[in-house]
Amino acid sequence: MFAERLLDTLYPRNCIGCGMSEPDPFRYICWDCWSATNRVEPPFCDLCGDPVAGSVDHEFICYSCSAEKPAFDGARSAARYDGVVGEALRMLKYEKAFWLAPDLATLMRNCLLAEFPGRAFDRIVPVPLFHVRRRERGYNQSAVLAHELGKRIDCKRRPNALRRIRPTTTQTNLTASQRLSNVHNAFQTEKVRRLTGQRVLLIDDVMTTGATVNACAKALKKGGAASVHVLTVARG
Ligand SMILES: [Zn+2]
Ligand SMILES: [Zn+2]
Repeated sequence: MFAERLLDTLYPRNCIGCGMSEPDPFRYICWDCWSATNRVEPPFCDLCGDPVAGSVDHEFICYSCSAEKPAFDGARSAARYDGVVGEALRMLKYEKAFWLAPDLATLMRNCLLAEFPGRAFDRIVPVPLFHVRRRERGYNQSAVLAHELGKRIDCKRRPNALRRIRPTTTQTNLTASQRLSNVHNAFQTEKVRRLTGQRVLLIDDVMTTGATVNACAKALKKGGAASVHVLTVARG
């Protein structure tokens, strides 16, 4: 707390959305900017968490999850990839804005408590970067988020439980099926099977088609994980 107060004196806090000084309830996002951010709101698919049009009054599984059940047991995201949350994620990923990670982790924790109430997890595991990419960037933004979230919930972190064993091109400009083959068999768990029977919470910054987290969940289950739930800050 003292360190935080010292930092606030040295670097005054401003909302990254509107510039308002000393925003609340987050450190760098004010309530108005957070309220204006689009959430991923129900009704959505019980499994992948993708929103569906219309009203649903029973447990609903979307078309793509019915066609092929994902390897993860549930996926949820705190907000849409736009507005102040999209901006914060871009700054964290490309501008080393680590000071935004605590706010993003708080959003994740709130989403976790609302969407997976009462569910316990044994391990928090971030989606890994391929080692060359990690070396180029200097850090893995998902690991930064997982580290911050770990301070806020009662769960052990396993930053290196997963490895990306081959380079994959960025998913951004790929179609859904290209995304699938791009990440197919790209992940592997640690050799020592420390994940046996573990309930894993898999962390990433953004989820789009879910191909990446699904490939990770497959690897985690192959490595012995009992369950894998996915939590991301945003949904593309
Ligand atoms: Zn603001
Ligand atoms: Zn679904």
